Amino acid sequence: MTNTENVLLETTQVQSALTVRSAADVEWAEEADLVVVGFGGAGVSAALQGAESGGHVIAIDRFDGGGATAYCGGVFYASDTSIQREAGVTDSADEMEKYLAAESAPVQADTLKRFCQGSSADFDWVNRYVPFSGALYTGKAQYPPEGKFLYYSGNEKVPKYAEVAKPAPRGHRALGAGYTGNVFFEGLRKAAMEAGVKLITHAPVRRLVMDTEGQILGVEVHRIRPDAIDEHQKLYSEVNPQMPFKGLQYQVAIEKCQKFEAENSEPAFIRAHRGVVLSTGGFVYNLELLRQHRPEMASAYGEILRLGSPGCDGSGMALGATAGGYVDLMKNMFIGKTTSPPESLLHGLLINAEGKRFISEDAYVSVVGGAVAEQPNNGTAYLVLDAKSFWSAFWNALTIGRSMFLFFGLPTLLNILKGGTRRSGSLQGLAKKLGLPGKTLQDTVQRYNEFIITGKSDPFGKQPANIAPIGKGPYYALNMSIRNKFSLTPVFTLGGLRVNEETGGVLRRDGSTVSGLYAAGRTAVGLCSAGYMSGMSLADLVFSGRRAAMHALGQQ
Ligand SMILES: Cc1cc2nc3c(=O)[nH]c(=O)nc-3n(C[C@H](O)[C@H](O)[C@H](O)COP(=O)(O)OP(=O)(O)OC[C@H]3O[C@@H](n4cnc5c(N)ncnc54)[C@H](O)[C@@H]3O)c2cc1C
Repeated sequence: MTNTENVLLETTQVQSALTVRSAADVEWAEEADLVVVGFGGAGVSAALQGAESGGHVIAIDRFDGGGATAYCGGVFYASDTSIQREAGVTDSADEMEKYLAAESAPVQADTLKRFCQGSSADFDWVNRYVPFSGALYTGKAQYPPEGKFLYYSGNEKVPKYAEVAKPAPRGHRALGAGYTGNVFFEGLRKAAMEAGVKLITHAPVRRLVMDTEGQILGVEVHRIRPDAIDEHQKLYSEVNPQMPFKGLQYQVAIEKCQKFEAENSEPAFIRAHRGVVLSTGGFVYNLELLRQHRPEMASAYGEILRLGSPGCDGSGMALGATAGGYVDLMKNMFIGKTTSPPESLLHGLLINAEGKRFISEDAYVSVVGGAVAEQPNNGTAYLVLDAKSFWSAFWNALTIGRSMFLFFGLPTLLNILKGGTRRSGSLQGLAKKLGLPGKTLQDTVQRYNEFIITGKSDPFGKQPANIAPIGKGPYYALNMSIRNKFSLTPVFTLGGLRVNEETGGVLRRDGSTVSGLYAAGRTAVGLCSAGYMSGMSLADLVFSGRRAAMHALGQQ
């Protein structure tokens, strides 16, 4: 086992697989064709697909189900959909494939093709149970404003990508107010229940059962005692990835929850005749693993916003490792820095502690976040604005609309008011207040303005629509540093178990698959594991969840 696999086992309460001569050696409490471990987005997709394929499915969740998916923005990345057509958008699987290839998807070319060619069908499948809308937003935003449900959710319009693939709005947000991951999950959950999936809640899976040939036979769950379920759910609710500024408190709750489970559960075995799907999410709430792969994020855990549910501790990866599977791309993470909405913030200049620009301000939120994280002085960065853009952003943040206020308006205002914003009548004065060297800030601004005045394109690739010269002072600098908790840094993990890309079967290092074991969603390496754009995680977990179920039940 590698260091990572050892840490996974030490920190997740997962035990080494139980090896028996045959299934008859175990006293099974329940049995099914397909057992799905973790009932979030990937789990519900696998379970529903399994039931639709005619299998008897048991889904098991450590808590109540939903996971990160039920908290998320509900944005699903897809091309050539009925919703795009309703909005008058022309798009195709081929253009989506060209775009995603340029973004470097960490999968084989034919997997990317299959994903893109099947995108419209996957979307239709979801849309049978989850409402969407063609209300189109053509501006630049990490998340569409209230009342808008279809938008450019990645880097499609950034010149470098627009040159290789025709841009199209592919971010489909589930219909509802504010973040609509709950609408997305609830639609699929209801369909799964109606299709006959049996759901066992408050039952962390702690061990795989396999025979001496390595065939997976089932799982061992540690069911929380009935009288302890309310308390267990309460512990779960103490972590809310939509609520920032509580990083330290969340860590305490995570540790308390693990201890509580160990003291209040009873084991039982569940037989899986055709396969086990591991869909327990990522590992952003496993501090030890974060330390191992992104120490700079681990040391900032009090300030960053870990986007996950308490179940995101990597236990599915640990289970896979006990059967011979291996994890990969564990360093890859979504690290976000939001510069829009409000859109007028895009008119500013992002600079580092040396007073230099380092990224296009309108690049996708995780491209900006990843770049900020790499800047000197533990990811120190400032957004420099002139008076007009600053006050316009301030006003936009105040009037952004009720349900968007919590996610975008309020964080912007809080950062302006409490994050250490600096103001000065001159750029030189501002540089002095920020402790920046000499004339660098003035030079950076001057160079930027010259590019605009002379009509040249921005060297960092900022889109013309988001460019405005830095005009009259007073000038403002918003603190965008990683260690500033008021400038939100949302983070979630992208690496996981390597799987056979045709079947979703968990792979051993020698390239063979573990018979009867599958992984999906953020437990596995998937289409978004090299870099995430809004909607790609949901799209990948539907693709990978359905793939695993279909293959386990012999439909592929
Ligand atoms: C605020 C926020 C906004 C986001 N917005 C978007 C967006 O708009 N679009 C997008 O594509 N992505 C978005 N993401 C990311 C996306 O939500 C996640 O990457 C995705 O939902 C992960 O899905 P999953 O099925 O792999 O895991 P989850 O949805 O987290 O499900 C895992 C489930 O497994 C259970 N579990 C864990 N361990 C065990 C165990 N040992 N035994 C049994 N059960 C277990 C957990 O309780 C959980 O219910 C967002 C995330 C957040 C938090």
